Amino acid sequence: MSNRPYIVGNWKMHGTRAMLAEARAIDRAAERLIKVEVALAPPSTLIHACRKEANLIGIGAQDCHPADGGAHTGDISAAMLKDAGAGFTIVGHSERRADHGETNVLVKQKAEAAIEAGMGAIVCVGETEEDRDAGKAEATVGEQLKASLPEGEAAAANVTVAYEPVWAIGTGRTPTPEDIAIMHRNIRAQLVEVYGEAGQEIRILYGGSVKPENAVELLSADDVGGALVGGASLTAESFLGIIIAAA
Ligand code: PEP
Repeated sequence: MSNRPYIVGNWKMHGTRAMLAEARAIDRAAERLIKVEVALAPPSTLIHACRKEANLIGIGAQDCHPADGGAHTGDISAAMLKDAGAGFTIVGHSERRADHGETNVLVKQKAEAAIEAGMGAIVCVGETEEDRDAGKAEATVGEQLKASLPEGEAAAANVTVAYEPVWAIGTGRTPTPEDIAIMHRNIRAQLVEVYGEAGQEIRILYGGSVKPENAVELLSADDVGGALVGGASLTAESFLGIIIAAA
């Protein structure tokens, strides 16, 4: 596993070309912050432009369709995203699971399609507040992971897992570093069960209300290999605050 923390910004449905200046500023700063691996997942409409503006950081997508192509109006295949300049895609984000009814089976197909197309896949998992309150957080995440992880020869080398408790996304609330460490330990054990020794090398990111002010604490939890950042990745200033905290 690369021991450089991996900090990925998810711009969600934010950004027109006016936001390319932020990508440029992040890219320029990344040149000096070589201890951290930085990536951005802008909306699909900006992937190509971000790739051209930013030479150093990774550029990825937020989703892909599991099929290579066909009659799927409005969807985008993994190969198309790669062609536009994406090196990875997020799959199974909780907003897609909730807004589009995405199942673990579909998330797995998407991850496999991304890897087949030559990209990395960031597979997101995370419990709801009800799951946590009911003492079912670990079981929920375990089930999601088991059914969402890609299979295949290239899977372990190209997958990243993001643990994102749904109740922490965009809310300003976060788990304690101890809670994160417990969950990451379980995820690690499951990765080793599925992929053998290769599972030790897979990075596990934490996501959910990571900000410059809490990044040091959250990133120092055991087995946190980086962060998936939503709101705080929308300006270069706040995203760089997190990147600097990770360095
Ligand atoms: C996310 O959407 O992946 C996320 C972690 O969002 P936020 O940082 O805004 O909580």
